[in-house]
Amino acid sequence: MITIATILLFITILFLYLNNNSKVKYVYINEKTKKYHLEDCPYSKNLKEIPLKNAIKNGYEPCKICNHNNLQ
Ligand SMILES: [Zn+2]
Repeated sequence: MITIATILLFITILFLYLNNNSKVKYVYINEKTKKYHLEDCPYSKNLKEIPLKNAIKNGYEPCKICNHNNLQ
């Protein structure tokens, strides 16, 4: 027998799953070199944080050190 509590639990899990999936990934951009870096990159210090899709849209390229695994 399916109770209302079970349905609510299912909806909560589904919501959390979808919410987690739509999380925006942020990268750090270097406006001089036109490269974007990941948070753990030594070159990401003092750089501007923007969403990854914005970085790509603005013509930024992945850093070869921290982005050797292609993020796209
Ligand atoms: Zn980097």
